[in-house]
Amino acid sequence: MRILVTGGAGYIGSHVVKMLGEKGCEVLTYDNLSTGNRWAVLHGDLVVADLGDADGLGRVLRTFKPGAVMHFAAAIVVPESVRDPLKYYGNNTVNTYNLLRAMREHGVHRFVFSSTAAVYGLARGIPITEESHLNPINPYGTSKMMTEMVLKDLSFADSRFRYVSLRYFNVAGADPAGKIGQAYKDATHLITRAVKTAKGEFPRLQIYGTDYPTPDGTCIRDYIHVNDLAEAHILALEYLGEQDLSEIFNLGYGHGYSVLEVVEAARKVTGIDFPVEETGRREGDPPSLVADSTRAKRELGWRPRYDNLEFIIKTAWEWEGRLAREIRGTS
Ligand code: UDP
Repeated sequence: MRILVTGGAGYIGSHVVKMLGEKGCEVLTYDNLSTGNRWAVLHGDLVVADLGDADGLGRVLRTFKPGAVMHFAAAIVVPESVRDPLKYYGNNTVNTYNLLRAMREHGVHRFVFSSTAAVYGLARGIPITEESHLNPINPYGTSKMMTEMVLKDLSFADSRFRYVSLRYFNVAGADPAGKIGQAYKDATHLITRAVKTAKGEFPRLQIYGTDYPTPDGTCIRDYIHVNDLAEAHILALEYLGEQDLSEIFNLGYGHGYSVLEVVEAARKVTGIDFPVEETGRREGDPPSLVADSTRAKRELGWRPRYDNLEFIIKTAWEWEGRLAREIRGTS
């Protein structure tokens, strides 16, 4: 099976490309390297191009002839989306539209989409099922929700088109085998910031808001290891091969940790009592996002292996050390 992977040089995409390679798939990565890295593509070739480049995209689809497209290329930072919504509607909504048009033109009808728990926003109940009301409170979540609407309409209009939309909760950690991980230098996500602070890259970790309606006042998230997430993509591909159906799946472990709990776990794992500073709320943060992933377990046969916050942080911590030594050569 030939798979085109957009964003395959990025954090999550690179873990999936590696896994696809291990499963014997023929993979081509399409990435503009705006946040990804050439060295992260451990399997197959890399085409450096933008999804806004209709000619380049058409050429790749025509020559590579993928059986399916996995679409990771996107902007993913919630506060940035609040400041710069057009970047998010452009990168996430318009570029996905460009991709879908090109796929249609070249007869590619299988699609795996990276969606997000941010589509739920202010969720009415926890844990959140796929049937929960969509109520995004930031442009990032809205940009992904809009794409999901396009996918739904397209699959209704064209019976050949089938997709799986995977709503990721908070992805973290790194491949325990050690060759890839989160390498975006301006990474803003909590676990990455915590281990970078422990390493001394930042003087302190800021805690964005302690007055949320949660037990300790800080936001609660469901942190999922990147390899468990990657595995679900392989299963999603198989699902598209076997079923004549489109479907949406939540991917999380079903329990959440507060920001303060993550800080405590990161201090324990790293052995470093790094300083924190409580500051005001960050724009666009919902108080609590915890997945009900029953459907992914039932329909995809998803069996997560790394449901352990300390293990997730440990892999992120080990990766940070390796990133500094081997990739940047700074220590
Ligand atoms: N957070 C924090 N300090 C940081 C980074 C994140 O307090 O340096 C909080 C953030 O406000 C949110 C939670 O950690 O409540 C998870 O944020 P992250 O950016 O990791 O993921 P998101 O849920 O926004 O996709």
